[in-house]
Amino acid sequence: MADAFDVVVIGAGPAGYPAAIRAAQNGLKVACVDAWKNRDGSGAFGGTCLNAGCIPSKALLESSELLERARSEFAVHGIQTGSLALDLATMQKRRAGIVRTMTGGVASLLKGAGATAIHGSARLLRDRRVEVVAADGTRSELSARHVVLASGSIPTELKSMPFDHRFIIDSWDALELSAVPRTLIVIGAGIIGLELGSVWRRLGAEVIVLEALETFLAVADQQLAQEALRHFKKQGLDIRLGARVTGAATADGSVTVQYGDAAGKSLSATADQVIVAVGRRPYTENLFAADSGVALDQRGFIQVDEACQTGVPGVWAIGDCVRGPMLAHKGKEEGIAVADRIAGRYAHVNYEVIPSVIYTAPEIAWVGKTEEQLKASGIDYKSGVFPFAASGRARAMQATAGFAKILAARDSDRIVGVHIIGPMAGELIAEATLAMEFQASAEDLQRTIHAHPTLAEALHEAALAVDKRAIDNLNR
Ligand code: FAD
Ligand code: NAD
Repeated sequence: MADAFDVVVIGAGPAGYPAAIRAAQNGLKVACVDAWKNRDGSGAFGGTCLNAGCIPSKALLESSELLERARSEFAVHGIQTGSLALDLATMQKRRAGIVRTMTGGVASLLKGAGATAIHGSARLLRDRRVEVVAADGTRSELSARHVVLASGSIPTELKSMPFDHRFIIDSWDALELSAVPRTLIVIGAGIIGLELGSVWRRLGAEVIVLEALETFLAVADQQLAQEALRHFKKQGLDIRLGARVTGAATADGSVTVQYGDAAGKSLSATADQVIVAVGRRPYTENLFAADSGVALDQRGFIQVDEACQTGVPGVWAIGDCVRGPMLAHKGKEEGIAVADRIAGRYAHVNYEVIPSVIYTAPEIAWVGKTEEQLKASGIDYKSGVFPFAASGRARAMQATAGFAKILAARDSDRIVGVHIIGPMAGELIAEATLAMEFQASAEDLQRTIHAHPTLAEALHEAALAVDKRAIDNLNR
């Protein structure tokens, strides 16, 4: 007989495990099934984010940035280091240790909440029955009043150069390299391309980034994108825009990538390895039976409404496998909201106010609309910019690159977008996100006291600059 649950969650990434925990907190009987397999065959909870995404990438970004700063900045502070050496094995051991601790933490969190955590692969059948094949091959069946699909996403492969995981690698491979490539090509100047390209450049690789679009970081505010491009080029990232990749050939231990430039000229670049980072696609392989009633949209995402309900009563879908930005925090909020809806509680996800962060140096973060989007939708706005060069804290930190920019509606003064490039931008964006969530005006931020000297003062001054009343900046 099938084991009966109130809720079965399929997937224990940052969307699935919070859904399972909140459902258990709501007093429901919950199982969470996850199929993640590490390279050594072991199972782990936490999904892409903890095992092969957010957490290991941030561990390497932090370590490599420390090396870069020791190399280029310590002397300015009057710190003599002697010769510096990279111990990549130790750096990678630290990264792996952080991942182990965090993924073990998810297992403990599920257990602590009273949810049943199962390593195995799950498939939704008709009538909310779920077939589970455990890691040891044992088959069982669960039944549930509600099923939450949280199966995540996988890297998009280029047909012209399929992954061989040795020379042509994906982002997971790129996080686990045991030697620094002498030369590295990154295909795609998106978030992964810029973060991982930065890691390996700092560790000593010559990095070429081939981006198909002619616009750099087309998703971001273009004033911010241009500032970022200037810094990345100065650091030595060789970013080639308008590069249309046509194929790759591996010979004598290196890969040659053929591409065409914007003018249609055929070009090529050769490197030890190529990271393909051209986006991710929803992963739904073997997730549901044909007669389960679940439908995919044209791009392969599970079809859901605003409340994450599929067309099948009691079946929900959240995270990277449904529409919206592929971000861990977006999936987490959907997971919590769905678990509350199942329990009959009020829930809401504000898709208009989701922060984005790119953990490069300088760091990049934004929330809300870009200037380009405001212009396109005919919204009249005011803009206030404050450069970190005018911030006392940024000066003390030797981190004066970049700026904070606030966009406010001209008629209501309501903040409609905040764009930050500079030190700790990913932390600073939290204040802007909260302000937008509370529908704050630029004047609200102007009247909020910010501690001195802090980086957050840049937001205060940018808010003042919206009305041309900045205090600490001549270009008000
Ligand atoms: P996933 O994390 O992909 O988890 C899905 C889980 O479901 C997996 O464990 C999978 O094995 C399991 N599963 C799938 N099918 C089944 C099945 N049939 N049965 C059982 N289990 C199944 N986002 C950020 O917000 N910040 C970052 O800094 C960030 N950095 C990233 C860096 C990299 C290199 C990458 C690749 C991604 C990064 N992301 C980041 C994106 C983030 O990882 C994803 O948005 C997030 O993991 C999506 O969460 P999810 O729970 O929807 O899916
Ligand atoms: P992305 O969508 O951010 O960037 C992909 C880039 O590749 C784009 O600039 C695109 O124009 C380019 N591209 C596409 N096809 C190409 C081709 N054939 N040749 C050259 N360039 C091509 O995707 P990503 O960087 O792979 O990241 C995937 C997802 O993971 C993103 O949606 C992102 O939200 C998430 N992620 C988030 C973070 C973070 O929050 N810090 C970090 C890493 C990944």
